[in-house]
Amino acid sequence: MTIDFTLQKYVRFCRIIKESSLPILTFSEFIEKGQPQFPLIVLRHDIDRSFQKAVQIAEVEASYGLRSTYYIRMTKQVYRPSMIRKLVRRGHEVGYHYETLTRAKGDCFLSISLFEEELEMLRRIVNIKTISMHGSPLSKWNNMDIWKFYDYKKYDVDEILLSIAYFNIHYFTDTGRSWERSYNIRDRVGSISPQNSICSTEDLIEYLQFKIEGPVFINVHPNRWTSGFFNLCISIFSDWGINQIKRMISKINGTWNS
Ligand SMILES: [Zn+2]
Repeated sequence: MTIDFTLQKYVRFCRIIKESSLPILTFSEFIEKGQPQFPLIVLRHDIDRSFQKAVQIAEVEASYGLRSTYYIRMTKQVYRPSMIRKLVRRGHEVGYHYETLTRAKGDCFLSISLFEEELEMLRRIVNIKTISMHGSPLSKWNNMDIWKFYDYKKYDVDEILLSIAYFNIHYFTDTGRSWERSYNIRDRVGSISPQNSICSTEDLIEYLQFKIEGPVFINVHPNRWTSGFFNLCISIFSDWGINQIKRMISKINGTWNS
């Protein structure tokens, strides 16, 4: 078995993209530059569970002079002002990983007031220019649906998926410990992975080195990248379990597209 999704592999990934001549932008830089359509990389991370791995990933990136955007979930484990400041000191950007429609059990009015409250809490610590929704596989609500009733621009932010949905952007996510989109239920945009054969990080590295044709967004969930063999086994087992649940829910909802 090839060991993938380890911190060592992420170090190699960062080294190679640093050595490439590709521009590497944060999401707000991409927006500020008018969403350029030439080959470039936008790196983003969703901090879903804990800060420990996120800080390791942030330090690897900083050691290669790479900047990325970290989306913060407003849970007890993740909303940690001192850690958020640490990311900023490493040169990274911070965004808000919202899930207020799920938390408000589908009540749009309650959801938008929670959104305002949480955005304000984060803005007391750091400047927030961009937001991304958290896709809970067990939730029946899609958190982005609040924007069917309200306008996120009113809050002086850009919503990552809604902002890029209509551009020819290739979007990779490590959801399910693979770069194939088929493991991704909620986190969808209008673009399609360039090739289904991109599964491993080595495949992705080769694509970025030799086949990239336009902007590429890469979503790395720090908690999926492990530093030891024992931790890797635990994570693979836990991801396998989560994927089985997602498959089951998607089959029930008729949304699984494998
Ligand atoms: Zn998330």
